Amino acid sequence: MILLVEDDARIASFIAKGLKAEGYAVTVAPDAATAQGIMAVRAEDLDLVLLDLGLPDGNGLSLLRSWRDRHLRLPVIILTARDDIASKVSGLDAGATDYVTKPFAFDELLARIRAAMRTAEQIVSTELVVGDLRLDLLSKIAWRDDQRIELAHREWALLELFMRSPNQVLSRTQILNRVWEYDFDPGSNVVDVYVSYLRRKLNRPGLAPLLHTVRGAGYRLLSGDGRSE
Ligand code: CA
Repeated sequence: MILLVEDDARIASFIAKGLKAEGYAVTVAPDAATAQGIMAVRAEDLDLVLLDLGLPDGNGLSLLRSWRDRHLRLPVIILTARDDIASKVSGLDAGATDYVTKPFAFDELLARIRAAMRTAEQIVSTELVVGDLRLDLLSKIAWRDDQRIELAHREWALLELFMRSPNQVLSRTQILNRVWEYDFDPGSNVVDVYVSYLRRKLNRPGLAPLLHTVRGAGYRLLSGDGRSE
């Protein structure tokens, strides 16, 4: 998941929509306090941070320094209108992976995100594994029992979410918030529809079903280690 720290609601919504269209899960923090809150409880869910410098309650640079002081190694791309050399130097010296100035071309931002993630993945793992299911985070291809499963963008984001929380029940609202827009109609059945697409792709004759409905609560991905419902 990408954490987007950006106080300008229009820019945040534009970037978040663009990233989600590319299949990334995105969470937005409109100020430094929210970003620190997310970092405190969900740092392990994050793959990358896009960080604005001018925030209503502080400076992005102090956030970055505090993360690096705590040895958080995830890639951080500074995204700011400050295009002077001194700002770039202090950003990179504070531990930024890259520095992109506004206005920017979205394709370039995507390429820089991919580059930052490639570098990070060489340090961390490039795949998630749950039972006999593997998901390659770079190629976005899943494998079950060594059979390749092609996934559409939303299916991929949905599967990544489940694989990051194996055996945990995820409610429709949680899934909507993390994979779709925040303002998506909560009465929509889009989650159920995509879960059924995903389930069809994951099911293999002779192998236990992985994606289970928990009546009245949501869905969960079982790790296939012999547990039964
Ligand atoms: Ca700002």
